[in-house]
Amino acid sequence: MLSYEAALARLIASAGALPAEACATDEAAGRVLAEAVRAQAALPPFDNAAMDGYALRSDGRAIAAGSVWPIAGRVVAADAPPQAPAAAWEIMTGAALPPGADSVVPYERTKRLDAARMRVLEDLAPGRHIRRAGSDLQPGDPIATAGTPVDATLRMLLAAAGIGQVQVKRAPRVAILSTGDELVADADAPLRPGQIRASNGPFLQTALTELGARVLACRTLGDDPAQFAAALAEVAVEADLVLTTGAVSAGVHDFVPAALGKAGAQLLFQGVAIRPGKPLLAARLAQGPLLLGLPGNPVATVLGFRFFAVPLLRHWLGRPPERPLLARLTEPLRGRGALRGFLKARVSHDGDGTLRVRVLAGQESFRIASLLQANAWATLAPDADELAADARVEVYPRDPDGRWRFD
Ligand code: AMP
Ligand code: MG
Repeated sequence: MLSYEAALARLIASAGALPAEACATDEAAGRVLAEAVRAQAALPPFDNAAMDGYALRSDGRAIAAGSVWPIAGRVVAADAPPQAPAAAWEIMTGAALPPGADSVVPYERTKRLDAARMRVLEDLAPGRHIRRAGSDLQPGDPIATAGTPVDATLRMLLAAAGIGQVQVKRAPRVAILSTGDELVADADAPLRPGQIRASNGPFLQTALTELGARVLACRTLGDDPAQFAAALAEVAVEADLVLTTGAVSAGVHDFVPAALGKAGAQLLFQGVAIRPGKPLLAARLAQGPLLLGLPGNPVATVLGFRFFAVPLLRHWLGRPPERPLLARLTEPLRGRGALRGFLKARVSHDGDGTLRVRVLAGQESFRIASLLQANAWATLAPDADELAADARVEVYPRDPDGRWRFD
């Protein structure tokens, strides 16, 4: 059976690229840059005062305690810099430096003598408290590389640099088809004996939205190959990716592999050496989109999404692959035989900052209550020996957006 790494590599190799599109930076939060962004102008745009005080022309000499300076006037932020040459101007933070001024002396280091003069109270080195034009960014300096998500910090830089439009990756378009005769999607509908509430679709829908994908459809279908084939044909027209859940293992209703064959899909792999989620499959549909067939057990769906769909979406968006952290086990851990194990876990840190990982009780694939206690997936290589307490294991954040949420 294919290893996790080989299966993922096969999926990514057949993924192709998403086009870029222009996006107003005002609307770009959550999108991902498709091109590097560079400063077009200097930041700050002009030399200006870093403190409220006086701008002095010291001609590079030390400013002596006791020296008295005549004040030519006052410059505040938004004023055009005065052009008249003068030894000293009263100046406010952010105001443009008058020509020739080479130092700003804060109010605290001065005493105002009258309306037209002030005295410097201490010996001061020249050149202090000035923000030079271009000292933050020079024209042409890189601001962010392709693959950077547009977040609040990047928006601040784009705004400061006056960049009103960026090239971003088109949002991946994803359709979700949940299968199972037993599933009830309507929260208000009472359950008949044998029925359960459908939870995979809501998970996938929310996780996809958090990742910046566009959800084209989220449908709950019966175990009916004809209904499945019709839904597949419909969503395949627009989708980059179709996510199905359920009906990929060995049960009598596990019709998805046969239905894909009938629809002319090309199977990329069926079955991966992972636990949970072993029956997971991937295919390319005749119309072009990729399909991931996630097993229906909720934890297998979550895991398959986290470790196959997320890397695929990151690849499409030009984001680098995730890398795990290493955390020390709080208790010994047995391996998962020939399969790569993914375990619901809780990562925290000690007083000295060492990462610790506790593998949670209740690892079975139907148990979703423990998912909320988890903030991580611990992963164990195939054929791993038993690990002692304190041994280090690889951990990934639980959440598909790849962010760590520690205590
Ligand atoms: P399957 O992969 O179709 O054999 O389903 C495996 C298990 O997951 C069964 O217990 C199903 O009832 C359950 N299951 C399948 N799909 C969902 C879903 N969308 N929401 C919740 N449980 C599901
Ligand atoms: Mg089923």
